[in-house]
Amino acid sequence: MSRFDYASGTLELDRYPPGAADDNLQAWDAADEYLLAHIATLGAVAGPTLILNDSFGALACALRALSPYSSGDSYLSQLATRHNDRQNPGDDGEIHFLDSLSPLPDAPGLVVMKIPKTLALLEYQLYALRRVATAATQVIAAGKVKDIHNSTLQRFSDILGPTRTSLAKKKARLIFSQVTAPAADSPDRCCVWTLEESGYQIHNHANVFSRASLDIGARFFMHHLPKGLDGTLVDLGCGNGVLGLTALGQNPGSEVHFVDESYMAVASSRINIEINRPQDMARCRFSVENSLAGYDAGSVQVVLCNPPFHQQQAITDHIAREMFRDAKRTLRVGGELRVVANRHLDYYHQIKQLFGNCTTLGSNPKFVVLRAVKI
Ligand code: SAM
Repeated sequence: MSRFDYASGTLELDRYPPGAADDNLQAWDAADEYLLAHIATLGAVAGPTLILNDSFGALACALRALSPYSSGDSYLSQLATRHNDRQNPGDDGEIHFLDSLSPLPDAPGLVVMKIPKTLALLEYQLYALRRVATAATQVIAAGKVKDIHNSTLQRFSDILGPTRTSLAKKKARLIFSQVTAPAADSPDRCCVWTLEESGYQIHNHANVFSRASLDIGARFFMHHLPKGLDGTLVDLGCGNGVLGLTALGQNPGSEVHFVDESYMAVASSRINIEINRPQDMARCRFSVENSLAGYDAGSVQVVLCNPPFHQQQAITDHIAREMFRDAKRTLRVGGELRVVANRHLDYYHQIKQLFGNCTTLGSNPKFVVLRAVKI
């Protein structure tokens, strides 16, 4: 836990899960500080306060007295915000959570946005915001200077209206937009492409990993998926669900679960099964979840995983390690974990240490596919 001193108070904040990440990483950044310092200078706000893309709840906890709505695509961020809210109890207000695909509150008085990682998500959120904002809505966004490009600012001015930026402070910058542009329909919500091998049409909501084309690690993994197995097979960190979708066809006796911490990923996976294998919907399950937290020990036959290598903006392998531990816990004896990984990551030894065995099913100059059996 670390102490966050901001313009009008102090919070004790953790990243999430607490204790799992590198101790040097904080649960807030200079953009949070800058936003809160600016908000402290504003008068009373008429209308709901809306926070977009809070990382670990620094903004929502600091602004709790305004009973803000907090919307984003990360379930982990939501868990972090709930955790940090419990650690900093107060008498005033409460935080209302919205997932990234739910409508935003009407006529917000104040919108506080952290610039998301992808332009596609930014665009999606700005269109959603434009649909509910009024000329009186104050829109303040913030991000690292290096993440704010001309194309970023252009999106704000095209979709919302006149936009200006602040001076940089601690390498962060604020963005202010006036809402004057006419509300417009957003372009197509999903990016769609064809999976060559099968002809499946793959739909991708704005924040989905490798949204515009098949990830090269996933492409290699597809040649090493299990065949003809029964029991529960989990596509862990499913993204658009390409791995689970392919495994579904190869394992007609199995039940396939699609699990991701991104609401848009799980929604995309569901669309991709509905459209490409509607006959198999009855043996699929879709869950927004932190790794395999919702699974009982010994309940799963196979875990397939193309693990994440960052959390928010930070490159880290702690989520991958948590996924491997969760796989070990939830697999039944004789069940297996299959992982695709960049060769330079030493997952082989991590998995071997955890499971007591690990074999390489395939390798190419960039990737390896590893298999470990629970004994
Ligand atoms: N399986 C997809 C593929 O191969 O194209 C996506 C793989 S991508 C490298 C990793 C995925 O893990 C992302 O979709 C990300 O949202 C998800 N993820 C990250 N942290 C997670 C967590 N704690 N629990 C569940 N999923 C998580």
